[in-house]
Amino acid sequence: EKFDIADPVRTRAILEKYRIRPKKSLGQNFLNAPVVIDQIVDSAQIGSTDIVLEIGPGIGALTQQLAKVAHKVFAFELDQNLLPVLQENLADYSNVQVINADFLQIDLRQFFTKNDLQTKSIKVVANLPYYVTTPILWHLLNAQVSLQRLVLMMQKEVAERLSAQPNHREYGALSVAVQTKTEVEITQIVPRSAFVPQPNVDSAVVSFDLTKKPDYGIQDTELFMKVVNAVFKQKRKNLWNNLINLVGKTTANKEQLQEIFDQLQWLHQVRAEQLSIADLVKLAKLLHATNL
Ligand code: SAM
Repeated sequence: EKFDIADPVRTRAILEKYRIRPKKSLGQNFLNAPVVIDQIVDSAQIGSTDIVLEIGPGIGALTQQLAKVAHKVFAFELDQNLLPVLQENLADYSNVQVINADFLQIDLRQFFTKNDLQTKSIKVVANLPYYVTTPILWHLLNAQVSLQRLVLMMQKEVAERLSAQPNHREYGALSVAVQTKTEVEITQIVPRSAFVPQPNVDSAVVSFDLTKKPDYGIQDTELFMKVVNAVFKQKRKNLWNNLINLVGKTTANKEQLQEIFDQLQWLHQVRAEQLSIADLVKLAKLLHATNL
């Protein structure tokens, strides 16, 4: 019986057979740790009717295990040199469709309509190319389509920022932006030794449950994020100073801002990193109400 693609022996054989020199510029670090892949697939909670979108299948290590449990897998791979590898090594899985494209260029609404996915249960699973982690995440979170769950491997440092809670060093505008949209959880820390070639950083698997949409009562996301970005702009400065820079240092503005701080019972020394999302929402609302 053949080894799974992720098995280190088979991975090496495939890389040699097709003379693949992994491209750093495309973030090509291939998983060759079957245990890690099993845990990713588990976190994705894939049922037999689920459809999976995979970004960057590489040589197919994760794709193969997804194909075993999902109804169908659409795998988007940018590097056309990998197409023959995928075609041959995934030949046994008729439910895999490889699409040669830059995932960021995919109009997901159009893709869903074309493939009749609007009413299906869709999950996204990927060992992401790290140079485009946040653009891909935003492409998914802002897509006007219904996705159930994302399970994404990324740099550990980014994973920590996405999932950080108030009063933690990594808590910032990115944590707030993502957590207002979805529940975020780190499900696995993955050492660099799980990849070939090994990256310079450790990784983490993050799951996003898009069926649990938090409701903070944010009416104007753009305005809210403007405030959030301003208060986290200089993390070492206190909130008061960051806000004064946002609204402008006139006497009238200072008085109005003082009233807001009084209402919230905040001292000037409060720092953005101490504020929960609910606090930030209250602040944005008061700033908006006073036309600051
Ligand atoms: N899934 C494989 C695995 O786990 O071993 C490979 C993961 S590797 C970290 C990232 C993959 O994404 C590479 O195969 C790379 O060619 C591909 N890729 C890079 N940029 C991409 C993009 N914009 N759209 C689609 N795929 C991309």
